[in-house]
Amino acid sequence: SAASTPIRATLFPGDGIGPEIAESIKTIFRAAEVPIEWEEHYVGDQVDPRTQSFLTWESLESVRRNKVGLKGPMATPIGKGHRSLNLTLRKELNLYANVRPCYSLPGYKTRYDDVNLITIRENTEGEYSGLEHQVVRGVVESLKIITRQASLRVAEYAFHYAKTHGRERVSAIHKANIMQKTDGLFLKCCREVAEKYPEITYEEVVIDNCCMMLVKNPTLFDVLVMPNLYGDIISDLCAGLIGGLGLTPSCNIGEGGIALAEAVHGSAPDIAGKNLANPTALLLSAVTMLRHLELHDKADRIQDAILNTIAEGKYRTADLGGTSTTTDFTKAICDHL
Ligand code: NAD
Repeated sequence: SAASTPIRATLFPGDGIGPEIAESIKTIFRAAEVPIEWEEHYVGDQVDPRTQSFLTWESLESVRRNKVGLKGPMATPIGKGHRSLNLTLRKELNLYANVRPCYSLPGYKTRYDDVNLITIRENTEGEYSGLEHQVVRGVVESLKIITRQASLRVAEYAFHYAKTHGRERVSAIHKANIMQKTDGLFLKCCREVAEKYPEITYEEVVIDNCCMMLVKNPTLFDVLVMPNLYGDIISDLCAGLIGGLGLTPSCNIGEGGIALAEAVHGSAPDIAGKNLANPTALLLSAVTMLRHLELHDKADRIQDAILNTIAEGKYRTADLGGTSTTTDFTKAICDHL
């Protein structure tokens, strides 16, 4: 039977609170009998000359082979002659889309109770191409690169996501009235892809109007797809709508079907090693990984257990106003499974 062959997935516990919250995910996955076998990789303390980074070639190969992984927060050591860990992963694995589900957690009160949207950010080009220079003294120039290939790729992912996740609408976010060539091309690509998905409603929303609509009534949106910089800003805005980065999961999609899920928050050095960290964001990220693997039963079961534990309010970590330790909260989720 299918249950006899576990799926191998790469796990980077990461730094700071990373190992504590990764332990929590392993415990909950065991309790839910998720058929995943973790291949654990730690970031070394020496630069691997093959990657120019503290991430080894073997770690990258593990993700390329398994095509699926979970990443805790990583703190890039300061020094010369190496690349940032997150940048290494993005470039080497060609992680072209960052996907962030944003939904209200029942029982955790924020301004809105019914947020349920997905932001999909193009992650390889746009304003983040790193092409900046000085023209003459007092005048600088930055190049925003938009290509047909990368725009079609992220649009295709957005519509495919909508279709396979029971979503009804894709909104392309842009400023094509000003950025006529770049955002214009991005929209043209979105329109082309939209034609292949007649069952999904397609609309275009100007970024400034989108911001106003999001804060006034976030239920107006379903799936949003956008170029890099807009995605950076809008995805954090959406995280704020549901209670902040500590609760927000994300998943990076790469070439060849790679999915690397990660929490949005950092390594929280102020609370590391104290059994205080909230594992929710990493756990919900792990849930996006299960959905990518189409293990929807397991994903639903774990997501319900998390939401019920938080809604019940008896066990919450300090960041959510409670007094529970990471291990108590983890145990409460296991009891809810
Ligand atoms: P941070 O997210 O680590 O911490 C900000 C605040 O949020 C802190 O008070 C922290 O205690 C709290 N917090 C964060 N996650 C939490 C959790 N799960 N449970 C409870 N509280 C939580 O941001 P920072 O302090 O700016 O960055 C610390 C380090 O993390 C830096 O080295 C940075 O480079 C790195 N970082 C890594 C990533 C990543 O790997 N994706 C992202 C952001 C920052």
